[in-house]
Amino acid sequence: MLRVEGLHKSYSTPQGAIPVLRGVDFALAAGASLALTGESGSGKSTLLHLVGALDDADAGEIILDGVALTLLSEHARAAARREKIGIVFQQFNLIPSLTVAENLGFQARLAGRFDPTWQEELADRLGLAALAARYPEELSGGQQQRVAIGRALAVRPKLLLADEPTGNLDEASGDKVLALALDLVAATGCAFLMATHSERLAARLQCRVRLDAGVLAAQ
Ligand code: ADP
Ligand code: MG
Repeated sequence: MLRVEGLHKSYSTPQGAIPVLRGVDFALAAGASLALTGESGSGKSTLLHLVGALDDADAGEIILDGVALTLLSEHARAAARREKIGIVFQQFNLIPSLTVAENLGFQARLAGRFDPTWQEELADRLGLAALAARYPEELSGGQQQRVAIGRALAVRPKLLLADEPTGNLDEASGDKVLALALDLVAATGCAFLMATHSERLAARLQCRVRLDAGVLAAQ
């Protein structure tokens, strides 16, 4: 489903270029889950941004669903991002002026992939059905992150990316959110890549890799 080959990325700063990724390679099959661990500042978010087509690599290739992202036009890349990739961040990033139901359907509508039956099933499975008319400020952190996961999966992406998705939650809520995400990943067969600095959470996924000095090591 996803193949990453020779990915390099550095940031330019007034002090010079900071190399972050120095040749990252990995593959992820449909239905598989991979935890990306590493110290703070090791480049986990950078890697997720590249895979999510939110930023450009300096070199290397990202092949999603058989298509090399770098070979696509900006327009086609934006479409691939909307239709094939769901992203969940540490900050839940819900739209405050929209209800839970509206937030859930927001990205699917933008992508032209809104499916009311699937959205209802997602809301049920995520325990959000009774909260559909609420606004984000009326939800707990765990509930907000469940909405963000549902919003990402409403488009039926091929790949779900999550960057420290439980980082703003207490341990019990975080565990519950991750369990629900893993259930849904298994049910939908999408590939799941999650960045976390927690070895405990990483252990819940099928495979683990660690980012250190700009390259990946299997764990
Ligand atoms: P992680 O998510 O593992 O904590 P990041 O990918 O956020 O790591 O950051 C990796 C390194 O790149 C850090 O040293 C960080 O300071 C640097 N960095 C991240 N984004 C930028 C940016 N936009 N400009 C300059 N440096 C950046
Ligand atoms: Mg990060």
